[in-house]
Amino acid sequence: MPTEVVAHAPDLFAVESGPAATVGYLLLDLAAREACVIDVPMGSAERFRELAQQHGVRIRRILLTHTHWDHIADAAALQRATGAPIAVHPADAYRLQDPVELRLWQLPLPFEPVQAQEFLQHGQRLRCGTVWELEVRHTPGHTEGGVCFVDQRRRVVFSGDTLFAGSIGRTDLPGGDLGQLLRSIAEQLLVLPEDFRVYPGHGGPTTIGAERRDNPFLQTAGR
Ligand SMILES: [Zn+2]
Ligand SMILES: [Zn+2]
Repeated sequence: MPTEVVAHAPDLFAVESGPAATVGYLLLDLAAREACVIDVPMGSAERFRELAQQHGVRIRRILLTHTHWDHIADAAALQRATGAPIAVHPADAYRLQDPVELRLWQLPLPFEPVQAQEFLQHGQRLRCGTVWELEVRHTPGHTEGGVCFVDQRRRVVFSGDTLFAGSIGRTDLPGGDLGQLLRSIAEQLLVLPEDFRVYPGHGGPTTIGAERRDNPFLQTAGR
């Protein structure tokens, strides 16, 4: 199970890891020596810790776009290692404790329940050091409490499994709803300026403009 680290900027790293090739992100404030993690795929906790150590930063917060197993598998391990609080939308929190979720993946993998300490609300703004200011956007459809994180100044979106390059999140798992997902994408993401970069929970980055133009799933939602 290879883990791949990509530096998208000196203060933004992607860690792709686990059986579903899930991507988590490390956001750094090098001056303030602080960092945040967005999603914690299986096998990523050790990488996040190494990256933080290399850059002399402390991980202060663990943010979850949603609570499917592949995005939270190492959350308990990373929390133990860092003491950082875990933040999640309340509508997705139940799954953090629910090993039934694991059976959906039909994989003989360990499930370590974990508890959230912070609850995210639509419109809330979270700081990571002083260089990142993440606005929470509730984007249900892939899961009930899925969120995207938008940084207006950095012109980036962390989209979890809501929007991918050329695709959208699956809606066949419990809590999924295709109509709702398309509405969330149209109302919360496609309204952003074209040049905003999108960092999804699987695959490489894209832009709002590219998805508005070319994403085959958004032919009616985006216009
Ligand atoms: Zn998911
Ligand atoms: Zn996923």
